[in-house]
Amino acid sequence: MSLPPCPSCQSEYVYEDQTQLICPECGYEWNPAEVAEEEAVNVKDANGTLLAEGDRVTLAKDLKVKGSSLVLKIGTKALIRRIKDGKDHQLDCKVDGAGEMMVTAAFVKKA
Ligand SMILES: [Zn+2]
Repeated sequence: MSLPPCPSCQSEYVYEDQTQLICPECGYEWNPAEVAEEEAVNVKDANGTLLAEGDRVTLAKDLKVKGSSLVLKIGTKALIRRIKDGKDHQLDCKVDGAGEMMVTAAFVKKA
C-alpha cells in the first residue's frame, strides 16, 4: 500500500506510525482517516437530505438566473451532474428548460 504525499510539503517519504502518518522532512503528522472525511463532499438539500451526483431534484423555490431575465419556477426538475464543495452553488445541474447551471443545494429538494 502506498502512502499519500505529505499535505504540508508534498514529500513522498511519508511513513506510518500506528494510525498517524508522519513526514520526516517537515515533521508534519496527520491521521489519513480524518483527511479523507474532510474531503468528502457533504451537500444537503432543503430538507437536509444528502445529495449525490446523478440525483434528480426539483427546485424548492423560484430562482432568478444570473445575467438574464429568466426565472426558474419552483418545482422545475434538474439532474445533478457534479457536486462541488462550497458555501453555495454546489450543484452543477442540468435544469429542464434552462440547460446547465450552478445551483445552491439548499434551494433544491431531492425528487
Ligand atoms: Zn512534509
